[in-house]
Amino acid sequence: LSERLQKALRSLTGKGKISEEDINKASREIRLALLEADVNFKVVKDFIKQIKKDALGKEVQESLNPGQQIIKIVDEELTKMMGEESVSLNKSPHIPTIIMMVGLQGTGKTTTVGKLANYLMKKDKARPLLIAGDIYRPAAIDQLKQIGDNLNVPVYSELDNKDVAEIVKHGLQEADKNKNDYVLIDTAGRLEIDEQLMDELKRVTEVAHPDNTLLVVDAMTGQAATKVAEGFNADLDLTGIILTKLDGDTRGGAALSIRAVTGLPIIFTGQGEKLTDLDSFYPDRMASRILGMGDMLTLIEKAQQDYDTKEAEKMAEKMRENTFDFNDFVDQMEQVQKLGPIDQLIKMIPGMANNPALKNIQIPDNEIDHIKAIVYSMTPEERENPDILNPSRRRRIAAGSGMPIVQVNRMIKQFKQSKEMMQKMTSGNMKGLENLPGM
Ligand code: GDP
Ligand code: MG
Repeated sequence: LSERLQKALRSLTGKGKISEEDINKASREIRLALLEADVNFKVVKDFIKQIKKDALGKEVQESLNPGQQIIKIVDEELTKMMGEESVSLNKSPHIPTIIMMVGLQGTGKTTTVGKLANYLMKKDKARPLLIAGDIYRPAAIDQLKQIGDNLNVPVYSELDNKDVAEIVKHGLQEADKNKNDYVLIDTAGRLEIDEQLMDELKRVTEVAHPDNTLLVVDAMTGQAATKVAEGFNADLDLTGIILTKLDGDTRGGAALSIRAVTGLPIIFTGQGEKLTDLDSFYPDRMASRILGMGDMLTLIEKAQQDYDTKEAEKMAEKMRENTFDFNDFVDQMEQVQKLGPIDQLIKMIPGMANNPALKNIQIPDNEIDHIKAIVYSMTPEERENPDILNPSRRRRIAAGSGMPIVQVNRMIKQFKQSKEMMQKMTSGNMKGLENLPGM
């Protein structure tokens, strides 16, 4: 499929804005890619609708073709949908922080209890206690005890008690006595959600008041995972998801579906059977995995970087040779324009966001267009030799571009100022800048 997709996208050529046709061609393939990654059907439908809205009329960046530009938008949107950054566990203000693991049978609850204990010990020097809340199969208790032995962590269990909530209560008393800072509760699962299981889990919740109720989901189960997550979330106040078995060859569409349907953050991923095979969740990595276009995304990123670096180097070279002219001025404006609205850019500079002086800053969007209009009304000779712009030439340019003469004069002044400023920056007294990317 990926090959077909790449072919389809290559067929979209041309520059300018993304057209409806570009989107329609691409969205068919993107839909298939997502469905193949086992993303829930309805989620795919909503997603494509959103992409169509976002992509239409978007400027295609100089360094990309429309197909690549659409993929970039899709990738960014996917990343955003899965939560922009990795989320951490809730921590209780007093010990112990309680973590309860729930999920269907075989998803990896017991294993993940061990992985998480190991993770917390490494990261937080934690002293966890594990509670064996899956009492229906003796093997389940043994399995947890084995994990506890491996990690050198105590496991609380009761062999003859059939009341799980009571076992958990006793386990928590034990943790208080031993001043454990984390308690991890393993619970039973079923092949499907049923009322009896939910009742039991609810009763455990009432006793334990977990700070984290984590649903463990097998990434290989694909579409079905959505229903399971919805079901558990309806009865328990889930706080997050752990997606296991991502070391398999699944593309991981479950991540997107679950997130879209429940809004719950995916906190960790399981990457194997060993106790160290636990990873934080990285939305950007997951997005490219779901798209199945890792190579393409790397290519897009690189094309952009190369382009920007090349441009910046060219400018610096011109500064040094003192050949920076109006053509370059326009190029540079366009580079800046590519970054987004200027007033928003300014707000991203540390300390600027709340600067009262900038509170009402208004930079007209069409400022750059006006500059371009003026430059385009110059003869090629004038563009390359700004010094020959005498008053009569300026008047002609003003008339040709439909701009008032004062604006033409102001623009020429701006050009000279920015040229001067940049010359200073490249002429040695700011040597350190040479080490910056693109300098
Ligand atoms: P539980 O029934 O939910 O407690 O599931 P278990 O923890 O017993 O795990 C069921 C099976 O899945 C075991 O064989 C685990 O080794 C395996 N397993 C759990 N997590 C992962 C994972 O992230 N990757 C792989 N490959 N296997 C896993
Ligand atoms: Mg288990």
